[in-house]
Amino acid sequence: MRTSVVVIGAGQTGLAVSYFLSERDIEHVILERGSVGQSWRSERWDSLRLLTPNSQSRLPGHVYDGNDPDGFMTMTEVVGFLDDYARRIAAPVRSGVTVTSVRRRGSAYQVGTDDGTWDADAVVIATGACNTPRIPAVAEGLPDDVVQVTPADYRNPDLLPEGGVLVVGASASGAQIASEVQRSGRQVTLAVGEHVRVPRTYRGRDLMWWMEVTGRLDERYDDVDDIVRARHLPSTQLVGTPERVSLDLNTLTAEGVRLAGRLAAVTNGRAQFSGSLRNVAKLADLKERRLLEFFDEWAVEAGLDGALGPVERYEPTRIEDEPPLSADFAADGIRSVVWATGYLADHSFVDIDVLDRKGQLKHDGGVVTASPGLYRIGLPVLRRRKSTFIHGAGDDARDITEHLAGYLASVAVDEAECAVG
Ligand SMILES: Cc1cc2nc3c(=O)[nH]c(=O)nc-3n(C[C@H](O)[C@H](O)[C@H](O)COP(=O)(O)OP(=O)(O)OC[C@H]3O[C@@H](n4cnc5c(N)ncnc54)[C@H](O)[C@@H]3O)c2cc1C
Repeated sequence: MRTSVVVIGAGQTGLAVSYFLSERDIEHVILERGSVGQSWRSERWDSLRLLTPNSQSRLPGHVYDGNDPDGFMTMTEVVGFLDDYARRIAAPVRSGVTVTSVRRRGSAYQVGTDDGTWDADAVVIATGACNTPRIPAVAEGLPDDVVQVTPADYRNPDLLPEGGVLVVGASASGAQIASEVQRSGRQVTLAVGEHVRVPRTYRGRDLMWWMEVTGRLDERYDDVDDIVRARHLPSTQLVGTPERVSLDLNTLTAEGVRLAGRLAAVTNGRAQFSGSLRNVAKLADLKERRLLEFFDEWAVEAGLDGALGPVERYEPTRIEDEPPLSADFAADGIRSVVWATGYLADHSFVDIDVLDRKGQLKHDGGVVTASPGLYRIGLPVLRRRKSTFIHGAGDDARDITEHLAGYLASVAVDEAECAVG
């Protein structure tokens, strides 16, 4: 089988690329191992809602048009939104086709799948950033009878074994799961490392509204001071609920969650926590304050100060006098661990020398310069801070497609010159 461009993955980024390819009349196919929006269908927990408001559920040529722009979609609604989009743009999706290899064949590509091989001039990898939950090496020390889950396979508290739960990681996923499990009646211990504290609403506006209007999310990857760090920042402690609640360590403590420091080791049936909790929490408070000050300055400059609610400052994170430095799995009744410690993108199907020693793709804003015609989309801060958000897919897809179209045109010229020469 042959086409001009193979796009791998039919999530929001693959579909957005398809939109721009079609706009340029570039022949392509989208190979998808499941169905459109598969990650939202099968790798999210039952109660999850988007943490971005409905007004930010927008893709090129497709915007949320319901009557609740400030609400937060359930997973079923997200899948419906993407299904509608795929239909609207007549995306050429081949469902149930898993890509198993991407190889170079001269200046072109051969894409191996479980349903045959595709030859193409260019390939766009849009397989998501959250393919493999990152589980720290300390997991090896866990007692055999402790059940381990990740946010990709956690569904609801009822599916965890009876007893206490250790949630490791206090970013969006860890904080949300810790809260849900604690409210279900289990004792949760939350191991807290670096985290990003933000309020759900500030001065009467949603946090994501502030992030967008101040231009924070549009900052380009080549303008970011420390791009490596930016690409590894933890996600913000946000949750999307109809009540628009904030979710931070103070909320969790009020619900009964026990806070501990970063999980440092597991030996002889005991978890050892770092003594850094107080400092880590102070740093998060400080950064939150700086962000709010930045918003306030922007509001004055934009002439909006008077139109917004009053300036707010929040109570510092409360940390008990002597936070636990260890926990005994058996004696403390901890029967399961949730590893909310982030994700890695999987590029194991790429059989080209473009991966670093950690298996991550080397690219410049999504352009794999070492292998012309190969592109990536949907990685953290790929081209902008909003690259992994639904509303960030459009701008990145437009840029990538523009570069790709230029590449295809240059290949066509080369071929024509060869034929003449
Ligand atoms: C828990 C969680 C909550 C999030 N909440 C939000 C939010 O509220 N708002 C927001 O804007 N963003 C959110 N995100 C971030 C981001 O929007 C999602 O991760 C989104 O799914 C990324 O879109 P994507 O198209 O890049 O990748 P994906 O949606 O992961 O799509 C990749 C597609 O590729 C397919 N695929 C993978 N490997 C292969 C293969 N080898 N062959 C064929 N097909 C393959 C997959 O089946 C999948 O359909 C969240 C992420 C997570 C993990």
